[in-house]
Amino acid sequence: MKKHLFLIVILLYSTQLFSQQIHRKTLKLMGSRFDISVVANDTLKASIYINLAIEEITRIEKLISSWDPNSQTSEIIRNAGIQPVKVDKELFDLIERAIAISKLTDGAFDISYASMDKIWKFDGSMKTMPSEKEIEESVAKVGYNNIILDKEKQTVFLKLKGMKIGFGAIGKGYAADKAKALLISEGVVAGIINASGDMNTWGKQPNGDDWKVAITNPLNKNNAFALLPISNSAVVTSGDYEKYVNFNGKRYSHIIDPRTGYPATEIISVSVFAPKAELADALATSIFVMGTEIGLNRINQLKNIECIIIDSKGLIHTSNNININKI
Ligand code: ADP
Ligand code: MG
Repeated sequence: MKKHLFLIVILLYSTQLFSQQIHRKTLKLMGSRFDISVVANDTLKASIYINLAIEEITRIEKLISSWDPNSQTSEIIRNAGIQPVKVDKELFDLIERAIAISKLTDGAFDISYASMDKIWKFDGSMKTMPSEKEIEESVAKVGYNNIILDKEKQTVFLKLKGMKIGFGAIGKGYAADKAKALLISEGVVAGIINASGDMNTWGKQPNGDDWKVAITNPLNKNNAFALLPISNSAVVTSGDYEKYVNFNGKRYSHIIDPRTGYPATEIISVSVFAPKAELADALATSIFVMGTEIGLNRINQLKNIECIIIDSKGLIHTSNNININKI
């Protein structure tokens, strides 16, 4: 009898010791809020894993930041119109993939958007619309065709003086992918890297359920309208409902078409589901620029990629293979 009891106590104790829990840390990285969650048996291990993810994200930030004068990205920008710059393979490959996404989206996505003159303001201070000429001139230095890559020499050259590149629409997704890959290689069974809404998950919740993401309608913020399972994949939402300006009854959002200089007008929020956060991140921004019809069309041609669009009337559009269980 006593022995029996002892066994039960040991068993209880060990399930407590080895029970898997979600450990989470929130902090600011890459100028954004990151929530890093890992499933682990104990707090000490969890904090080692979380620190590994933080180091990885910080390392990537140092490489791609255009704010940090010491980054390779800043060196590329300083040498615009002057000479090619040799960079790490990692940065070279990221730029190469960014250009591939530009081609896929007919230039709706373009890391050279960064040289755009900021003629639109979305803080209420703008009273008249800029002139056609001003708008046209604002994008004069934009164009991914002028980003010249030399694979052999591993160099990047921005052809025009004053050209810039920026990873605002792809960097957080890339960092989330890399942090996830690192933690998987360290043996972390499950987790979520959430970079201000750019979410990348793997494994399952400790209770065996898939991770779930709530989709909200920005026009009715307090109510999530769908709860979708995401297993070993990413979901990224783009769109800031509050940042826009109205002219002649038209709503101009803060995401600007790099080809024309005009803000996107049709969409207020896009969520993209994809195996990788990098692609999801870039496509979410692209769909904003492309608009509902072209955006849906493009997504429906891509395997394993789905999207949910909320347009400026509050209507919800989904790609072909998505099943929303309304809640
Ligand atoms: P957020 O990161 O705010 O959630 P997005 O993923 O849509 O939103 O990224 C917006 C950021 O991407 C902008 O702040 C800017 O840095 C950059 N960006 C804006 N327009 C483009 C574009 N057409 N192509 C590539 N990057 C862009
Ligand atoms: Mg994006």
